[in-house]
Amino acid sequence: MAYVISDSCIACGTCMSVCPTGAISEGDIYKIDPDTCIDCGTCADSCPNEAIAPGE
Ligand code: SF4
Ligand code: SF4
Repeated sequence: MAYVISDSCIACGTCMSVCPTGAISEGDIYKIDPDTCIDCGTCADSCPNEAIAPGE
């Protein structure tokens, strides 16, 4: 399952800059494309607001 971004996102952009596959896109709340995400977890480790978690 792809990682997902919650409403806790403050749109800082950190996750997008560290994702190795370009799966994350900008917005009021950033979004992960489940077809591009490879479940590496790098974004979740980088998020300052703990807004990213593995999908269920
Ligand atoms: Fe949102 Fe976290 Fe990504 Fe920043 S690192 S844009 S707070 S999900
Ligand atoms: Fe990108 Fe990895 Fe986060 Fe998926 S888990 S969005 S591939 S950094």
